[in-house]
Amino acid sequence: MSISVVWFRRDLRLSDNPALTAAATSSTSVLPLFVFDPALWEPAGPVRRAYLLRSLDALDASLDGHLHVRVCAPGQSVADVVATVAREVETDAVHVAADYGPYGAKRDAVAGRLLAKEGRALVRTGSAYAVAPGRVLKNDGSPYRVYSPFYRAWCAHGWRGPAPAPAAPVRWATAAGSQARPGEPDLGSVTLPAVGEGAALERWSAFLGGGGVDRYGADRNRPDLNATSGLSAALRWGEIHPRTLLAELGDPGDGGRSGAEVFRKELAWREFYADVLHHTPSSARESLRTDLGDMQHDVGPDADARFAAWCQGRTGYPVVEAGMRQLLTEGWVHNRVRMVVASFLIKDLHLEWTRGARWFMHLLRDGDLASNQHGWQWVAGTGTDAAPYYRVFNPILQGLKFDPDGSYVRKYVPELADVPGAAAHEPWTLVGGAPSAYPAPIVDHAEERGVALSRYSAATKAH
Ligand code: FAD
Repeated sequence: MSISVVWFRRDLRLSDNPALTAAATSSTSVLPLFVFDPALWEPAGPVRRAYLLRSLDALDASLDGHLHVRVCAPGQSVADVVATVAREVETDAVHVAADYGPYGAKRDAVAGRLLAKEGRALVRTGSAYAVAPGRVLKNDGSPYRVYSPFYRAWCAHGWRGPAPAPAAPVRWATAAGSQARPGEPDLGSVTLPAVGEGAALERWSAFLGGGGVDRYGADRNRPDLNATSGLSAALRWGEIHPRTLLAELGDPGDGGRSGAEVFRKELAWREFYADVLHHTPSSARESLRTDLGDMQHDVGPDADARFAAWCQGRTGYPVVEAGMRQLLTEGWVHNRVRMVVASFLIKDLHLEWTRGARWFMHLLRDGDLASNQHGWQWVAGTGTDAAPYYRVFNPILQGLKFDPDGSYVRKYVPELADVPGAAAHEPWTLVGGAPSAYPAPIVDHAEERGVALSRYSAATKAH
């Protein structure tokens, strides 16, 4: 009887899982392994931790309780732990979905070397993407730095259909030494949606069947409507694979259902950013545009106080408040609002994008290094986008345009719950002024816009 190991990381599902199919095909039983890695666990906030724990519960249930868990001890490397388990169960192969992130790629290289020393293999099959990062290249072999041509080339490259299930039901192996998972942190008033592969598949079919894709093109920018798929955390943790979604959207250019193209393009942003990170791992920490490296950012106690006000949603700008409080209470924020709050941090408060990106990663349940860091860089104007730094979002106009009757703001900002209609975006215009519990604006947007533009111009002139 032979055992293979499937090491789950960000692919917490059984269906459309080529690594699992490869493992099941090559052995008579499969040990499903998850290793808690302090390098990823420690920086995660309570919502991310709780999401992962619940997703593992769901995975374990679908494995009939066979999930084998190890917790990395201080000073121990995950690669060591995996090699130890492989030795204990005397397997020839540990199967994974390839990880293209800077940390994951290094970790897997070490694991591969340790396993190879004992005659075992780390077998990579598939990845978290429809097209593996690094595959779509320009004619001259260089990577794309601009999204639209990447998208066209990505569509032309195409992707496989969902992976077939293993030919026979998988026999799950057991092994001694499985450890208890950490307890779930206290989430207080935070609410999480249903988590796990089953919930992700249901969410997708409700979105598709309920006309979500059809309306997506028209409504996706509206945080007051429930108009996006809400699948980002499921995609981040691999509870569902983008292939599964793409297969049901139809082929690019086939006319398909309305909205399918727009939705496919959003999935492609995720693929594009993973591709950029794969080619330029330093973009996780540093601006891609080096000519803006001299940009002046505020630091010191005043800057810290403004950062704290932003984090807590107490800036005096209602849509910024709503977004930052949604982040605190749900660990998720609508894309339009992510752009507005990020712009506010960078261009109204003059703080470096990396500071906001770290706060997001700590709290987001869908926190993904590639999408988050490059989403921040897009707003900062330091990333892949051709649009210049001088695009500065006006938080009031953005609110009025995308939350026209103020209901998104009222939902997350209780101090403004009684302010009717669009006035929620400008409570200071009410007769008698804004409700007393609501903070006054901490900066003047028009003034700060001017400061941001002059700093941009100084930074670009320096080159
Ligand atoms: P939908 O609108 O239903 O889109 C479907 C899927 O496409 C999403 O689930 C996501 O996987 C992908 N997608 C959509 N828009 C983008 C985009 N702009 N960039 C990359 N992928 C996209 N997304 C993350 O998954 N993790 C992050 O950590 C993250 N951080 C961000 C930070 C900033 C500053 C910004 C501006 C955007 C960030 N995004 C991030 C992208 C986007 O905001 C979320 O993917 C989206 O809001 C998730 O909601 P949804 O699943 O309902 O998206």
